[in-house]
Amino acid sequence: MKAVVKTEVGFDHMVFMDIPEPEATGDLVKIKIAYSGICGTDLHAFRGTYASTKPPVVLGHEFSGIVTAVGPDVKRIKVGDRVTSETTFATCGKCACCRSRDYNLCSNRKGIGTHVNGSMAQYVVSREESVHLLPDNVSLLSASLLEPLACGVHASIEKGNVGKGDVVCVFGVGAIGQMVAQVCKSQGATVIVAGIASDVERFEIAVKNGADRAVDQTREDLAAIVKEMTDGEGVDIAFECSGAVPAANAALAITRRKGRVIQMGVFPEPKEPIWTDLILHRELCYMGSRSQKPSSWRTAIQLLEAGTVIPEKIVTAVVSLENWREAFDASIRGEGVKGVICCNEGME
Ligand SMILES: [Zn+2]
Ligand SMILES: [Zn+2]
Repeated sequence: MKAVVKTEVGFDHMVFMDIPEPEATGDLVKIKIAYSGICGTDLHAFRGTYASTKPPVVLGHEFSGIVTAVGPDVKRIKVGDRVTSETTFATCGKCACCRSRDYNLCSNRKGIGTHVNGSMAQYVVSREESVHLLPDNVSLLSASLLEPLACGVHASIEKGNVGKGDVVCVFGVGAIGQMVAQVCKSQGATVIVAGIASDVERFEIAVKNGADRAVDQTREDLAAIVKEMTDGEGVDIAFECSGAVPAANAALAITRRKGRVIQMGVFPEPKEPIWTDLILHRELCYMGSRSQKPSSWRTAIQLLEAGTVIPEKIVTAVVSLENWREAFDASIRGEGVKGVICCNEGME
């Protein structure tokens, strides 16, 4: 089968090549892939700056498709099912986080597209426990966005506890920021998105999908806007999705006393100082939200089925598997929001 393989560590070393198809042994499900999304971590893997990626490995962990074979121990999933899968390929099964199904925090977790072959290929295998059936009204294209949507659910609902009437601010309008904004909106919050001058196209997409206000911080005074929208109190929850320390500090500065700041972006090295004084004096709760877990997927699929989020509206490019590099280059240049690879033509 055709696949996009990261062949060795370092910059690029990515090759479109033929490799053997994976086999559905044990509890594994073999999936013919319709679409595979390009994630920020795939770009880090391309640059050679993502330590979790263990080459040689097929990249990709955001996907949808149709089951073509199941292993002898598979019970629930059948050939012909339309599915997506969590990114967890294996966990230790013994640690405290595995027992509570917080698989995102198992330190022996193995991920699809990092430790084992991923979805930028014609086929992938995943353990049955990670595979989810798709509701009939969910297209394979929108289903390929379930992983970033589940990250948005984990941050907004499971960590942020967002609710009706909350005012939230999302820093960063890439795919993750857009998903957080959509999930917060679906829960009845007022949503502000904040970015910089180069985010104009991304602001438009966020507002089209329900964000109440987009703020270009290079031209507008975010703190003043937030004050006006919250009777001087500050937002209830801020989400830092850009991985920039100045954005994290801005998030701490515009959040109300006893409010919550959720960190999702990964900071570069070296870091500027974080304003911890604000956390202390205003009793802020500053916490991390790392990827997603089984409960986040269940909620994400419900939101998608109900139509209260429309993740495919952030897709700005779809390319064929052999043209993968085109979409990577565009994403690296910061164009659009979400690039998706079509891995087998004609699947609906
Ligand atoms: Zn991802
Ligand atoms: Zn574990």
